[in-house]
Amino acid sequence: MYSMKCCEDGNFVQGNLTHYGNIQFSPFAAVLNYGQGIIEGLKVNRKEDGRLLLFRPDQHALRMKMGAQRMCMPSPSIHQFIHAVKQTALANIRWVPPPGKGSLYIRPLLIGSGPVLGVGPAPEYMFLTYASPVGNYFKQDKTPLSLYVEEEEVRAFSGGVGGVKSVSNYGPVLKALVRAKSLGFSDVLYLDSVNKKYLEEVSAANIFTLKGNVISTPPTSGTILPGITRKSIIEIARGLGFQVEERSISVHELTEADEVFCTGTAVGVAAVGSVTYRGTRFEFKVGENTVCQALGSTLVGIQTGLIEDKEEWIINIH
Ligand SMILES: *Cc1c(COP(=O)(O)O)cnc(C)c1O
Repeated sequence: MYSMKCCEDGNFVQGNLTHYGNIQFSPFAAVLNYGQGIIEGLKVNRKEDGRLLLFRPDQHALRMKMGAQRMCMPSPSIHQFIHAVKQTALANIRWVPPPGKGSLYIRPLLIGSGPVLGVGPAPEYMFLTYASPVGNYFKQDKTPLSLYVEEEEVRAFSGGVGGVKSVSNYGPVLKALVRAKSLGFSDVLYLDSVNKKYLEEVSAANIFTLKGNVISTPPTSGTILPGITRKSIIEIARGLGFQVEERSISVHELTEADEVFCTGTAVGVAAVGSVTYRGTRFEFKVGENTVCQALGSTLVGIQTGLIEDKEEWIINIH
């Protein structure tokens, strides 16, 4: 893992690689008591020629920077972030799965590691990147997701931190997630907190609907995490001739959708087979010859070096 510290001057210095292992800080650390922390997540893929490919690390670095501002934290520079991710990938090269077999998932973490007694920003910060190999979601002929529309609990509020990858966003979704899973669903689909009517997103993935030639996804105006996969899929879909709209989508529109899918670094582009709302199960087209599959395979093709990277989304690191 790679780690770097930052003291009161706000500058991160002297990052270094160490063996993966526990980290130590005060029980009064700001992140432990007051949730001052930001996560990121990105994947490294191995190309046929052995090179390692990173997908849009600059976008992840930028998003961490925005999140850090919201959480009153200093952040590593874009260059420092990418350097840390590269160092982590190279140090763990033996854990990068062979082409087509999966990816190395890299987790950057920025935390208020210094102690605070009353609520306030930490006097010291830590930036860490560490990794784990993950299987290939897309090629495994994965069973489509079954989503449960949550009406009691909400994920994010206007003015809150739903739009950043704050560590504080994930504890509060566990209750609804565990409940949905115990009912046999694969994940929760959240509605907006004001009207309880418009689709927001899934616990850690963005949502899209397709009707005819039109692909729709809710706008990321504060309560929805601006996914980098989401942004990439919007561009890919436009390139393939689809009309893409970022607009509010009422839960009632699900009755007419041809396809529904989720996007995120972890899931890639995942087909949604059904959404259950107030006891009614809406079903959508999945499998061969779906738009979801076309978009997903284009994305995976770019990420693994099989399709030309026209947009310069890929960084070669080996
Ligand atoms: C990480 C995340 C996403 C997906 O973002 P990507 O950049 O595509 O990985 C979507 N929603 C939430 C809540 C997330 O945490």
